[in-house]
Amino acid sequence: MDRVLVTGGAGFIGSHFVKRILRAEDVAAVTVLDALTYAGHIENLGTAFLSEKLTFVHGNILDAELVDDLVAEHTAIVHFAAESHVDRSFFAAGAFLKTNVHGTQTLLDAAMRHRTRRFVHVSTDEVYGPLPEGSATEEYPLRPSVPYAASKAASDLIALSYFQTYGVPVCVTRSSNNYGPYQHPEKIIPLFVTRLLQGEKVTLHGRGQHVRNWLHVEDNCAGIELVLRRGAPGETYNIGGGTDMTSRDLTGELLRICGADWDSVTNIPDRLSNDLRYAMDYSKLAALGYQPTHDFQAGLAETTDWYRRNPDRWAPLSRTPLAAMPTPRAASSHREHQHAH
Ligand code: NAD
Repeated sequence: MDRVLVTGGAGFIGSHFVKRILRAEDVAAVTVLDALTYAGHIENLGTAFLSEKLTFVHGNILDAELVDDLVAEHTAIVHFAAESHVDRSFFAAGAFLKTNVHGTQTLLDAAMRHRTRRFVHVSTDEVYGPLPEGSATEEYPLRPSVPYAASKAASDLIALSYFQTYGVPVCVTRSSNNYGPYQHPEKIIPLFVTRLLQGEKVTLHGRGQHVRNWLHVEDNCAGIELVLRRGAPGETYNIGGGTDMTSRDLTGELLRICGADWDSVTNIPDRLSNDLRYAMDYSKLAALGYQPTHDFQAGLAETTDWYRRNPDRWAPLSRTPLAAMPTPRAASSHREHQHAH
């Protein structure tokens, strides 16, 4: 595992993972490959650049030649790079298919050629679709209901097919919703926090009854590292164990932490299609030793504090609203899912 290629390492989760894996003594080199889309920021890596083990490559996972060169030099790949925002997938599904599906396949082709020893494909619980009750094990059928989740499900299947067909040692991780510092302010927690800190209103869709499992980003990264080290090739691992919460209760928590009240919340109509609830069983990874350790309330307070102390990091980003994107008619009144991921 001595040379690790991390795609999407300038994004939210990837940058946390890079800082974590750089601390591992058995890791000799970490290379980040990131296209620095609107969602990627080299500043997210910050102190990671103090490590001589880190190399940053500005490039696209769709660039087969570049990918081939980089994969040839590394023993392991942890693949985070993706278009990750559900709302954007309503407006621009093509970009999701290109990066999430074709980009993944480009990496897999290179991994097959160069006999990469470990390939962790980072995915999401959204591939299971909504669960009215119970929780999804890794065997649960994939029933994604938005283009983002469908593109991730497709990439999971392609990745696993490369294990079956060519023996590429792929593991897939599927985590629930992450929160923590450095997340782009288009996602619900930073969106609400940054608005409330500026004394602005936030919008809650419908009755706010949609349940998400909120997992601290460091817990997800711990799970991903465990899968990188101990996951069985060809296997999928759910990474859950965060705190289940409706969007209404989450809003209440954020109001409390930011010192605001319900007057700051505008209720807007629910969307046509909506994943009411996600829930995962993560006992398979727990059997390898995974256990989330972050307390939700403390984690949320610490995350809010980070946004309070670092307006220079998010203020410029909050000026690139989704509203600037073309609005297809079918998507304009769709889904509460919006900010949830
Ligand atoms: P993010 O949007 O913050 O970061 C994505 C990164 O990928 C960015 O740095 C971006 O520049 C880079 N990127 C995008 N397209 C690229 C391309 N074609 N070539 C190279 N780099 C490219 O996303 P995130 O929230 O950190 O999510 C990381 C991964 O985890 C994604 O695969 C996502 O599907 C998955 N995931 C996220 C969550 C969550 O709650 N955020 C939950 C489960 C799974």
